[in-house]
Amino acid sequence: MSDTLLFGHDGLARAIAVAFRAAGTPDDTALAIADMLVDANLSGHDSHGIQMVKYYLDCQAQGGLDAHATPRVFDESGAVVRIDGGRGFGAVTGAFAMQHGIANARKNGVALVALANSHHLGRIGRWAELCLESGMVSVHFVNVWGHRPLVAPWGGRKIRLGTNPICAGMPATANHPAFVLDFATSRVAFGKVGVAFDKGEVLPEGVMMDRDGAMTRDPGAMVDNEDGGALIAMGEHKGSGLAVLCDLLAGVLTGNGVGTPERQDGDTTINGMLSFVIDPDALGGFAAMESEIEALYDWVRSSLTAEGHDAILLAGDPERIAREDRMAHGIPLAAAAWEGFIEAAMLQGVTREALEQAVSSS
Ligand code: NAD
Repeated sequence: MSDTLLFGHDGLARAIAVAFRAAGTPDDTALAIADMLVDANLSGHDSHGIQMVKYYLDCQAQGGLDAHATPRVFDESGAVVRIDGGRGFGAVTGAFAMQHGIANARKNGVALVALANSHHLGRIGRWAELCLESGMVSVHFVNVWGHRPLVAPWGGRKIRLGTNPICAGMPATANHPAFVLDFATSRVAFGKVGVAFDKGEVLPEGVMMDRDGAMTRDPGAMVDNEDGGALIAMGEHKGSGLAVLCDLLAGVLTGNGVGTPERQDGDTTINGMLSFVIDPDALGGFAAMESEIEALYDWVRSSLTAEGHDAILLAGDPERIAREDRMAHGIPLAAAAWEGFIEAAMLQGVTREALEQAVSSS
């Protein structure tokens, strides 16, 4: 196991913004990226936090990402909003898409937001949470291409699919926090393989095959190994089917395109996202729904726990618990992950001292 360091979230965000400004990213975009990445660390998803900085900077340098892109609505007709992200940062395109979806849903009761051609949208739960801030229910399907596929279809041992995530959010009630279900359709998101690699840890059983189709717990079988293995789809044939559904909805319907070999041989990440944004006011108002929602949560939580579990959690609980803990006590990072960030930022001409000062100044 490698050493772990503790960071305050504000300092980490300042340091990330310094790195992107040095790379020529506009100031408001640099701040949006820093906020998105640190929020992922705060919510416990280190795979989608500061660890992404080096990757984003590489994509920017190689032209797989346009730091100056402005997303645009190219068609809005009734409840349908079609957006081209221009290969811009997901921190910008995701927020833009949700703002349009929320405004449209207020008008029409429901909005269908088709976002194509976005760079990596990060933790998709962030976009459901943005909808929740406006009292909106939402469902999101995302597809992924721009780099080699990572997931074998059920029954196969060769990579064909992206980790295509699915997400949904339901607002908090008087007595229960918001429900935010957000998961990759692979057993684990690929970033978690990188986190395990950095920490010198092995993976859980049953999440990855090596290049010959044998199960492995070694993250090195896929990290820094272009000829490597494959992630396993969650839920066997069901997760594999959901991953294909994500390509159909977020790839075909949005116009983003699906993951096929000619789109999977680059070094970037392109996400399409099809989002349903629903205004509960159009369905009788959220207040009238709260007692049903609470009855469901109470019933589910009342189950006796199974061996190895302390409590019944609902989706969104782990992220909320992590956020409370990390806001209060700091964000733990593997020393290797911090050094990886420093090296990536220094390549942009920033000094180690400037980054350390950004992290520690208040
Ligand atoms: P995960 O396996 O940690 O599962 C997360 C979901 O399960 C959350 O909704 C969480 O609240 C819930 N959960 C976790 N433990 C629980 C428990 N004990 N009881 C009840 N619910 C529980 O997540 P993952 O599949 O590894 O995905 C991680 C992140 O990666 C997600 O935020 C996803 O959006 C993101 N991702 C992004 C892309 C992209 O291209 N942008 C691709 C893949 C994944």
